[in-house]
Parts: sequence; structure tokens; C-alpha cells
Amino acid sequence: MESQPFAPIMTTAFAAMRTELARLAAQPPQVLLFEGGTEEERMALARYWAALQHCEQPAAGEPCFHCPACVCIADGVHVDVLAYDGRISNKEDEENPGAVRALSIDTMRQLKSRLRDSPHGKGKRVVLLAGMHNNRTEAANALLKVLEEPSATTIFVLLAPQREQLLPTLVSRSWVLTLPWPDTRSLTPALRVWQDSLAHFIQHGQGWFEKTSAKNAVTPLLAAEILLACQKALSQSLCSQSNSLCPPLVQLFAAKSVQQRSQAACLLDEANEALQSSVNPARVLDFVATSLFVLCSSRS
Ligand SMILES: [Zn+2]
Repeated sequence: MESQPFAPIMTTAFAAMRTELARLAAQPPQVLLFEGGTEEERMALARYWAALQHCEQPAAGEPCFHCPACVCIADGVHVDVLAYDGRISNKEDEENPGAVRALSIDTMRQLKSRLRDSPHGKGKRVVLLAGMHNNRTEAANALLKVLEEPSATTIFVLLAPQREQLLPTLVSRSWVLTLPWPDTRSLTPALRVWQDSLAHFIQHGQGWFEKTSAKNAVTPLLAAEILLACQKALSQSLCSQSNSLCPPLVQLFAAKSVQQRSQAACLLDEANEALQSSVNPARVLDFVATSLFVLCSSRS
């Protein structure tokens, strides 16, 4: 039985990706970038990658999930697996430093000096970096400095919904793996109606607010599902040829410039954060709808 934190990627949908990681583990790339999937899946896969480096008794190319190294990685407390998240503020980090640290100039400097020491165990040190797209340039520059000094004992994993959200200099250093997207055809009919209404509003500026303002129409769960559907549509618009069979939202995004799609990705992240900090879900969806309407009406 695998530990819970790995569960999201222990499915058949991720079998090929796990095989690919097992292949890469023999000679790990200096920087891996995981894009696509959900945030939970990206983090689970990153921890799985770390477990491949440190597991004491791997079998058939998979970590065992129950040796002390695997258990520590699952719990986020392994001494050679460090995690940083650009969405954690320096203040939060100072007041309540957790297993995942803020990604700031200070923590990047500390990391840089820490990398000069050998890892504690026999595996490579793994540095996980998430939430970099909202990051201030100075912290991103500090991170680049860390990556510029190749280390024989440390490997990095960047986690992002889409590579376009990262500095091109970071992406160009990375071995990119795109996680599978859940099939959009598996959308429930209700969710599909919401998605189509959103696409209609983005194009015509009509028929949205009457839906979100209906009493109890939007629960936090529904809002989260709609945001996820938008993120998937955005990603799909990047990876595949868009045609008239694609959902309207995919076609809409596909017609936009890379810059516009990158802005759309940022505002979806912003909306997700607002939702997580208990902003009224209907207002979050209205923000997304109006912002995408404005974004898609502009030329470039
Ligand atoms: Zn193990």
C-alpha cells in the first residue's frame, strides 16, 4: 500500500510517466520541469521523483513507499529534499516556518550556500520549486544564480501549471515533462454548461451574471471545478491543434497570443488563491469572467 501523498499519481493514467521517471533516474537531469496535471498531481510526482532518488529498497523501478526515506519524503520532512514555494510570503515564512519555505532572495541565498555541503544520505539532494510565476524578479534572479552553478549532488524540480508561466531562461534549462490532463469529455453535463456559458460571455459579454447571482448557485467546490476546467482548456489550447470539435473555451484560448494566454494563466492562479482564502466563490468567478472578457477583447 502506497503512502497517501503519492496516491494521485499511482493510477494507470500516470503509468507511462512513472516509467519515464524510472528511466531518467539512472542519470537524472539537473532540472526537471513538471507542467500540466493538477497542483496535487505535480507535487505527488515530484515527491515520487525524490523517492526514486532515495528509496532504500526500490523494486521494479518503483520506490517501496515504506522504507524510512520514502516515509520521510511522503511526510515532507526528508533532510535531503527541500521545498520552496513562491506563493508563501516572507512574513508567513518568518512567523511560521514550515517544511515548505518561501522562495525569496534570502532563502535562495541560504540554499546556495547549503548546496556546497554534501547531501546527508547517499541519494542526490532534491530541491522542489513551486509557485514561481508570481515571484518577484529579484527572487527569480537569485534562483537563477543557484541553478547556474551545476552541482553533482543536487537536482531541481520546477512545478508549474504551464511552462509559459516561467522565465524562458528557467525553461531552457529544464527537461520538461507534461503531466496528463484528465479528459475534458469527462466533464459533468452541469460543468460543461458553466464552461460554455463562460466561453459565451468572454465572446459576447452576456449571459453570465444571471447565472452566478442566482441564490446558492455557486459553491466553493463548483467554482474550483470551473477554474480547473479553465486551466485545462488553456493547456489544451497550447498542446493540441484546436479545431471545431474542441470545447468552445479551448478554441477561444487557441485564438489568443502566447502573451494573452500567459496572462490568462496568471489570473486563473490569482482566482484560485482568492478562492482558497475564502473569497465568495460567485465573486471569484465574476472576476475570472470579466478579466477574461477584457483580456480576450484586447488585440494582443
Ligand atoms: Zn523506499
